[in-house]
Amino acid sequence: FPVENIRNFSIIAHVDHGKSTLADRLLEITGRILKTDRNKQVLDKLQVERERGITVKAQTASLVHNYEGKKYLLNLIDTPGHVDFSYEVSRSLSACQGVILVVDANEGIQAQTVANFFLAFEAQLSIIPVINKIDLKNADPERVEKQIAKVFDIPQEECIRISAKHGTNVESVLQAVIAKIPPPNMKIEDPMKALVFDSTFDHYRGVIANIALFGGEVCKGQKIVSAHTKKSYEVNEVGILTPEEQPTNKLSAGQVGYLIAGMKDVEEAQIGDTFFLQKHPVEPLPGFKSAKPMVFAGMYPTDQSEYNNLKSAVEKLTLNDSSVTVHRDSSPALGAGWRLGFLGLLHMEVFNQRLEQEYNASIILTAPTVPYKAVLSSAKLIKDYRNEVITIVNPMEFPDKSQVSQYLEPMVLGTIITPDEHIGKIMSLCQGRRAVQKSMVYIDDHRVMLKYLFPLNEIVVDFYDSLKSLSSGYASFDYEEAGYEPAELVKMEILLNSRSVEELTTIVHKEKAYSSGKAICERLKDSIPRQLFEVAIQAAIGSKIIARETVKAYRKNVLAKCYGGDITRKMKLLKRQAEGKKKMRSIGNVEVPKDAFINVLKRK
Ligand code: GDP
Ligand code: MG
Repeated sequence: FPVENIRNFSIIAHVDHGKSTLADRLLEITGRILKTDRNKQVLDKLQVERERGITVKAQTASLVHNYEGKKYLLNLIDTPGHVDFSYEVSRSLSACQGVILVVDANEGIQAQTVANFFLAFEAQLSIIPVINKIDLKNADPERVEKQIAKVFDIPQEECIRISAKHGTNVESVLQAVIAKIPPPNMKIEDPMKALVFDSTFDHYRGVIANIALFGGEVCKGQKIVSAHTKKSYEVNEVGILTPEEQPTNKLSAGQVGYLIAGMKDVEEAQIGDTFFLQKHPVEPLPGFKSAKPMVFAGMYPTDQSEYNNLKSAVEKLTLNDSSVTVHRDSSPALGAGWRLGFLGLLHMEVFNQRLEQEYNASIILTAPTVPYKAVLSSAKLIKDYRNEVITIVNPMEFPDKSQVSQYLEPMVLGTIITPDEHIGKIMSLCQGRRAVQKSMVYIDDHRVMLKYLFPLNEIVVDFYDSLKSLSSGYASFDYEEAGYEPAELVKMEILLNSRSVEELTTIVHKEKAYSSGKAICERLKDSIPRQLFEVAIQAAIGSKIIARETVKAYRKNVLAKCYGGDITRKMKLLKRQAEGKKKMRSIGNVEVPKDAFINVLKRK
């Protein structure tokens, strides 16, 4: 294919607006798949993607289409739809010259529509607006066109109305792709330069890297080098994706396809990396960054005897997802486990769900935390650390205030789109989460777009669920990273009869310390059984107690009634009975069932 007959594009949309369905129709029209219902959402390969209707890993397909007597190679680069994967989205987009922006004719513009639009807009791509689901009874394409004109400044007439489900007008989307999206501006004569925009692991063939050729040609037998790792490899196979891998003799400038070169680990082909020929080094493509986890959680097998099985499942899953970070961890209460880092909340949930579904694992996931930072004061700096700013992902490593000139917390800019009758409730929800409103715009007569700056920590637990429930499901939410800001953070410890419980230590904002301490104490009270003496449950910041609950002791007469006789025998009996019932952990003289930790540590 001559470069002028190649188009590289992506479909972007809010979840459920019809991206996968449209992709299926495009594959059908171009003869890549047959028209049967079995092929529904061909590009969503993972079970969790099919169930949740989201795309986690990007899939790509090269389509051949005849138009006005010419043959075109249309490379559809599927992007993950969610903000957690926004780095992957922007990498996929950098392999494109244009996008199809799909908006549901009934729901209109939603939070992810906005986020995805701006990723494409900032990358200076041609944008083809498509209104989908015009077959729906409540479809109001005109209203949605007006929203698009208002929010994105795209003339109403440019919108293409389709039904991806029924195939209505889908042909004109393909025509627009050919007419409006420019061919890639890349030359075969230039040195070979390949952008890695996705990679997967195959047990037999090793890493399969999805690449976009920004110049030159690459074929089997050549020696290539990764700009990021500096390692060199011999190319075993190149080809195009249909979406199945189909080997070809070579890939050339402007094309998109896959490359296999004996890499054993997805880390060797990280998203955003550049490959070049060993004999002809080039400057790497700009903007590579390693995946940066923003949400951390502890993970433990429900039953310690499952540890080895879980370990191998985690290893297998991370083979395909280099953005999850894994560190071994252990807790006296929950046993051996890991501390995992994820790109965001959805990423964490998807990982969890895949472990359960694909590997049948039963796990305990602890409440998520975010990476805080501390700017160390100079005295501490000279003594212990080389860096002035440290990142804290484990509350036990939280440096004391005396050593710190400032604590920092990660922020995100959130976009909420909602029918206006819910504005009041949503504003108070956001205020309760320490958010600062940045803007409020009507996108049509009844719908509002709100922007808030949130501390990331305030949205990692149940924010999205609360937003959904107080708007009866109508509000949508998306966010992007917004750097770090100073925050008054404190380390809160939980004490049982004055002994600190390591796994319940948390980092909290000063304003939230009281309510969060109180909640943990109450939950613990409900799950610690009565003992022979009183148990004080306290939340403390340094030496200051901020909340307290008490588990009363058994009363003597209760004991007398039940057992009678010698008191030490009674105690032994009681103890044995308790041990039989639940696995206990002793903290000082207090016996705590494992469930108590799970109740407090678990999300929700
Ligand atoms: P994605 O999340 O953007 O990939 O959305 P999907 O393609 O998975 O579609 C979400 C849901 O909308 C599915 O149940 C589709 O069958 C349905 N859908 C997609 N396109 C249309 C359409 O044109 N009309 C109607 N009525 N439903 C559609
Ligand atoms: Mg989809």
